[in-house]
Amino acid sequence: MHKFPELSERHSDPTTFPPGVAFMDGQYLPISEAKISVLDNGLLHSDATYDVVHVWKGAFFRLDDHLNRFFGGVEKLHMSIPYNSAQIAEILHNCVALSGLQNAYVEFICTRGTSPTFSRDPRNSVNRFIAFAIPFGSVANPGQMERGLHASITDIVRISPQSVDPTVKNYHWLDLVMGLYLAYDRGAETAILVDNNGNIAEGPGFNVFTVKDGAISTPDHGVLMGITRQTVIEICAAMKISCVKRAISPDELRTADEVFITSTAGGVMPVTKIDETPIGSGLVGSLTTQITKSYWQMHEQGESRTAIRYPANAS
Ligand code: PLP
Repeated sequence: MHKFPELSERHSDPTTFPPGVAFMDGQYLPISEAKISVLDNGLLHSDATYDVVHVWKGAFFRLDDHLNRFFGGVEKLHMSIPYNSAQIAEILHNCVALSGLQNAYVEFICTRGTSPTFSRDPRNSVNRFIAFAIPFGSVANPGQMERGLHASITDIVRISPQSVDPTVKNYHWLDLVMGLYLAYDRGAETAILVDNNGNIAEGPGFNVFTVKDGAISTPDHGVLMGITRQTVIEICAAMKISCVKRAISPDELRTADEVFITSTAGGVMPVTKIDETPIGSGLVGSLTTQITKSYWQMHEQGESRTAIRYPANAS
């Protein structure tokens, strides 16, 4: 069974947070002061969409792509916010600049919000926009980046695309969180969920890729169209490596030469063991290493970067 961390290892003070700056209701606030109403439908019904962009060495990476995905979600969920894309870009920029963070995890959210009568009709709610910047975080820690993650393929089915449009980045995460507990019970470090056809879907905050005989594949059904996934597809095109979006069975993943996962939170991250099976040689594969290198090199290139103008006295 899953072992709970010792009490001393767990947070005992629910009011402590990482450093950072938030924006809500027209104001910039220390992250510890950014709070939403308990009546917000974003909290009560996971009725929200969001996006996460990262800042690396003082610049956003692919900011426009994240803004476009976010506005796509807002529109599909019949939400509206009083800011356009340029204004949100400025708000995100200000959160990072005020935080002074050079490497940041920047989340922006539209919740359904609240209604003065607690109406059940979602059209009666006033939508709420929130943004925050906190220190950059990764799915894989430095040790896992070096030796590769140990994942478990769970039999938990990722919420169906017929139920919730996975191209709208959303907080329907109970399947992913239960997947993590199952993975921990099995001695693994993260979980991979299957889709409603029994093929590989995605995991808690990441897309999945396989490498077999020099060709790369990634699922195309029932998954978020990750921006890191798209970046890897573009890197493969530039490197003249075949990269196909298609159904991948759990067995194909277990017998792949290499497996890696992708997320804004960490970039390209190797997986070297699935359940009890080492992947390929059991070491981080050479294509995974090359793609990871290209991914971080892209962060130095002008077209993907939006530089932050920090206040003169910021660290
Ligand atoms: N899949 C899910 C369910 C996610 O939540 C995320 C990111 O949080 C991803 C995939 C990866 O998407 P991106 O590369 O845009 O961060």
